[in-house]
Amino acid sequence: KEELNIIQGALELRTKTVEDVLTPLTDCFMLAADAVLDFNTMTEIMQSGYTRIPVFEIERSNIVDILFVKDLAFVDPDDCTPLKTITQFYKHPLHCVFSDTKLDAMLEEFKKGKSHLAIVQRVNNEGEGDPFYEVMGLVTLEDVIEEIIKSE
Ligand code: ATP
Ligand code: ATP
Repeated sequence: KEELNIIQGALELRTKTVEDVLTPLTDCFMLAADAVLDFNTMTEIMQSGYTRIPVFEIERSNIVDILFVKDLAFVDPDDCTPLKTITQFYKHPLHCVFSDTKLDAMLEEFKKGKSHLAIVQRVNNEGEGDPFYEVMGLVTLEDVIEEIIKSE
């Protein structure tokens, strides 16, 4: 029954973590910080269909900004505006969470905060060197809601 699935889903928010529902970094649509907002890039952004687009510097794991599609409202592709001009103007805060964050806590975060997207990181202490923060992907409010209402 649908109702039971939803209750089940809600109860599982206490045990499931962000890692279970995130969109892996390799699947994320992102932009390089040195991108130029020409016709091609703007077309790619529109065709991606995403509202929030992480911006990385040099490596995809190094996310430095977030672009909202609505930031492009006054951008003319003929001007070939550097992406940096836009990200430095809006300066949207980046929200990071650890991959072991439980989904109920994540839901509370999303309800409190203004942003409905967070960058997921973990502490990587495998291997020889010092432990370091490793970006695993992104999670949005939609991913948490989907966990509640998914029917199996
Ligand atoms: P909105 O619905 O507010 O317009 P959206 O469609 O861009 O936003 P969400 O609805 O928040 O995105 O998320 C839908 C799915 O897409 C989720 O699984 C989320 O993890 C994923 N997602 C969101 N942004 C990106 C992105 N830039 N690249 C890849 N996947 C993304
Ligand atoms: P997003 O968060 O994806 O950028 P948004 O902020 O425009 O989208 P929602 O987050 O979907 O809108 O909705 C926030 C609240 O604003 C909801 O209560 C919704 O009903 C209301 N809302 C959305 N669009 C309008 C509108 N054009 N006029 C008045 N209220 C709106």
